[in-house]
Amino acid sequence: YGKENRRGHTTIFSEQHESSIREFGSVEQALRQADLERELTLHYQPIVDARTGEATSHEALARWSSPVLGDVSPALFIRVAERSDLIHELTAVLLGKALAFMNEGGRRIHVSFNLSARDIASPEAVQKIREMVQASGVDAGRLTFEVTETAMTQDFEKGRAALSELKRLGAKISLDDFGTGYSSLHCIHQLPLNHVKVDRSFVCDIARDAAAQGIVRSIVELCRNLELTCVIEGVETEEQIAVLQRLGCKFMQGYYFGRPAPMGACGALAVSAPGGR
Ligand code: C2E
Ligand code: MG
Ligand code: MG
Ligand code: MG
Repeated sequence: YGKENRRGHTTIFSEQHESSIREFGSVEQALRQADLERELTLHYQPIVDARTGEATSHEALARWSSPVLGDVSPALFIRVAERSDLIHELTAVLLGKALAFMNEGGRRIHVSFNLSARDIASPEAVQKIREMVQASGVDAGRLTFEVTETAMTQDFEKGRAALSELKRLGAKISLDDFGTGYSSLHCIHQLPLNHVKVDRSFVCDIARDAAAQGIVRSIVELCRNLELTCVIEGVETEEQIAVLQRLGCKFMQGYYFGRPAPMGACGALAVSAPGGR
């Protein structure tokens, strides 16, 4: 899948017969040619205290609007970028935007920023992240770095050292998509964490699924014992909230409380929460 396959229009995503490898190739090529500074933006989604509805942080989520491919899902373009050092460029551009936002509009706002496995496996990338935070003048205490369990499977010791370094900077560390990796308990035991984000898959059917309720109840207790803040991801309905609160969950994130949206200069979400909280 070389240059001759570069098509310059959006239909590659609707043509079912396009093999995924070719799709990956086109996405990678478009990414490499992209003006990342212009084409990448961040949307923000609140993480709230469910009892008050107040946001304790806003998660920065990458959006790519490509003139060649149109809007591409982060699940796809992040995965493509992660196959090479390209991800470090994306991380740097996105972190730059998050820090600028924290300096300009959102002076009181706390931001949760996703790092990729490849970022934390690279001492150079971690040093770049550290330098960017320090040069920005942003109080690192207003930053949380989110990493997934699967990010830790590559080189655990390197990853742990990277997280310790970011924590020493003053940032908080959050373990994302908790419960979906192969070594959830190992991660929670060995990593310098502040928060654990329980994966959306446990929440979808929580109102009817007794096993999921048991699991979430146990995670909440585990977090309490280890003095970790527990955040539940993917909360969409009042019914889920009622069940989750009965299980002791305090912090939640999901479409019910607010979808990812651009932030205004004053640090307010440009689109208000559909749930009305
Ligand atoms: P994540 O960090 O676990 O982010 C949560 C994802 O769930 C986001 O998808 C968010 O839009 C979605 N979500 C939030 N609430 C709900 C809900 O109530 N229901 C449902 N169905 N979904 C909900 P998104 O924005 O498509 O991002 C997907 C993944 O891409 C992220 O998962 C993260 O792993 C990665 N990603 C996004 N932005 C970045 C970034 O800047 N850097 C890196 N390295 N990865 C990123
Ligand atoms: Mg995340
Ligand atoms: Mg997550
Ligand atoms: Mg996820």
